[in-house]
Amino acid sequence: MTRDSRYDVLFEPVRIGPVTARNRFYQVPHCNGMGRVHPSAMARMRGVKAEGGWAVVCTEECEIHHTSDISPYAEMRLWDDRDIPVLARMADAVHEHGSLAGIELVYSGHAYANRYSREVPLSPSGTVAQEYDPLQARAMDKSDIKAVRRWHVDAARRAKRAGFDIVYCYAGHYLTLPMHFISRRHNRRTDEYGGSLENRVRLLRELIQDTREAVGDTCAVAVRFAVDELRGVDGITAEDEGRGVIELLAELPDLWDVNLSTFENDAMTSRFADEGYQESYVAFVKQVTSKPVVGVGRFTSPDTMVSLINRGVLDLVGAARPSIADPFLPKKIEEGRVDEIRECIGCNICIAGDNAGVPIRCTQNPTMGEEWRRGWHPERIDPKGSEDTVLVVGAGPAGLECALALGRRGYEVALSEAGSEVGGRVTIESRLPGLSVWSRVRDYRVRQLDQMANVRTYRGSRLGAEDVRELAFRRVVLATGSRWRRDGVGRRHHAAIPGSDQPLVATPDDITAGRPVKGPVIVFDDDHYYLGAILAEMIRGEGYDVTLVTPAPDVSHWTHHTLEQGRIQARLLDLGVGIVPQHDLVAVGSDSVEIACVFTGKRVHHPCGTVLMVTSRDPEDALYHDLVSDPGALERAGIRGVTRIGDCLAPSTIAAAVYSGHRYARELDASPVQGVPFRRELPALGDW
Ligand code: ADP
Ligand code: SF4
Repeated sequence: MTRDSRYDVLFEPVRIGPVTARNRFYQVPHCNGMGRVHPSAMARMRGVKAEGGWAVVCTEECEIHHTSDISPYAEMRLWDDRDIPVLARMADAVHEHGSLAGIELVYSGHAYANRYSREVPLSPSGTVAQEYDPLQARAMDKSDIKAVRRWHVDAARRAKRAGFDIVYCYAGHYLTLPMHFISRRHNRRTDEYGGSLENRVRLLRELIQDTREAVGDTCAVAVRFAVDELRGVDGITAEDEGRGVIELLAELPDLWDVNLSTFENDAMTSRFADEGYQESYVAFVKQVTSKPVVGVGRFTSPDTMVSLINRGVLDLVGAARPSIADPFLPKKIEEGRVDEIRECIGCNICIAGDNAGVPIRCTQNPTMGEEWRRGWHPERIDPKGSEDTVLVVGAGPAGLECALALGRRGYEVALSEAGSEVGGRVTIESRLPGLSVWSRVRDYRVRQLDQMANVRTYRGSRLGAEDVRELAFRRVVLATGSRWRRDGVGRRHHAAIPGSDQPLVATPDDITAGRPVKGPVIVFDDDHYYLGAILAEMIRGEGYDVTLVTPAPDVSHWTHHTLEQGRIQARLLDLGVGIVPQHDLVAVGSDSVEIACVFTGKRVHHPCGTVLMVTSRDPEDALYHDLVSDPGALERAGIRGVTRIGDCLAPSTIAAAVYSGHRYARELDASPVQGVPFRRELPALGDW
């Protein structure tokens, strides 16, 4: 296939100081939970992005000195020469595919508490460290400022030795010392580093100049700067000081990488922001500087990308999440395979991995984070290793991904779905408020499956054990999903909540299937992810009085990991949903519930017409048990294996279901592995 000429502009080279990006696709710095802890996994993942056509591939944050450590997060580190080989491995992996490697040097100031190094954090004026640790940063004197400049130069030189082409001075987010100096609320200094904007920007100016002097002969110097903090006059705004900073430093760096602060604003989920949501904030930058500008906005549409370039908004299309969901996005556009793009759904499961201190994972791309340790490539998969035929029962995310990956391997596959539509929970949940983009999980897979002669999909085909045996496929995969429990069993309750058999109790499955509710509605959320709050939002939107009760300290507590919690709670409060945190549902009556404080046990009555239990799910595994309970019948039918995947095995996230389906397909004919089934990078022991 050949590329659509409309997209030619995306493949023009862009000069960035002394280096040239071969096209306009730029993977901006992004965390990945691997970093210095799993460096080969990190390097391979970056290399795959370069192979997929990203002309620039950057690191995550890279600490420049031990007086500013980001522990416990697994980012990069350049404290001394011993850290160089780890970074060199990444730069080499990126260069192997003709791309430029960028490194985001960071000094975090008071943003982190130096939990590992135990050094006292530095800040412009002395302030409480931003995490909840009970410690304060100390105010920097002039010698501290000189020292930070020196450390930055040392790190830049090491980055150059490691092979990097683009070296960042990082003033993005709230996480960086230069940003703390620029910020009026953090900088109360009265010397030449405080007061006027020109003074507050001085440290960033010096860092840029120092870096250029140290490595600018061969390396481009990039600045990442957050032009707006979305906190009004209390913070930096694009109209005022955001613009002011860029005007003051306009021609100094070789590249401007501009975005929003905080991280919650920069990486908004699709529930709260559409593709291109940062444009109105960063659009001015190109009018102020002649240097190339990169920006982000969860761009997955090549038409949007072209428009950004043609309208003079950006020179380079920045991406973190779209490059995670599809490392081969540029290649697919270049080769005229736009329909094959696996579009990011904006769920932030990728960020949740890093926030939880484990390697990155992605809802759409099951190979993300597995490139090195399991040898999974996003675009390549081994041809089939046997002539087995496979029946996949259930076309939710697990079944769809399983059928797709098996189909790519060349297996003959039948995918049987009981409903008239495929997509399972994705189809159902993408109809809920704010989740429409999640339908991409289904649509991407259906588009690919439609092209495959060796995979047939049967809709409206509910299979029982006898049907499965009659069909006589060699392998049977059960991806039949799960259903929500009605009895309240979950984290808090290990036995049914008294009264939960009353008719006023409903489950999420009832509500999404259209069962009418009667107000007032109590939503008991012991699941703590998105569904309880979304259903509360939806039911409130229909005009009912809704109260969300949760044992957690706040609504959708787990979504702190996906950076959404604040927005979710604000939305419910704005809608007038009552929120009762740190309370348990202890009894259901015919027209009321009893809730109890999780600390004191003190009980309160709440009248209600519906109790919506969002607690836990049961696997839909009756068919599995029917089948495996009669091994003789399976053998007579020629069935060699019956396997559960996705929610049918253990209810979890959509990401886990996709991963489970993909893993089955990869491992179908693999030899059994003794011990740990993936590669690990073990720590080198120090002197004893
Ligand atoms: P997962 O997240 O594991 O993919 P889902 O609940 O999203 O699970 O999807 C399960 C799918 O399986 C649903 O679309 C459901 O209709 C389908 N299904 C369940 N039981 C059967 C069955 N016996 N035969 C065919 N399809 C089934
Ligand atoms: Fe996009 Fe979700 Fe994948 Fe992150 S996890 S890249 S937000 S699809």
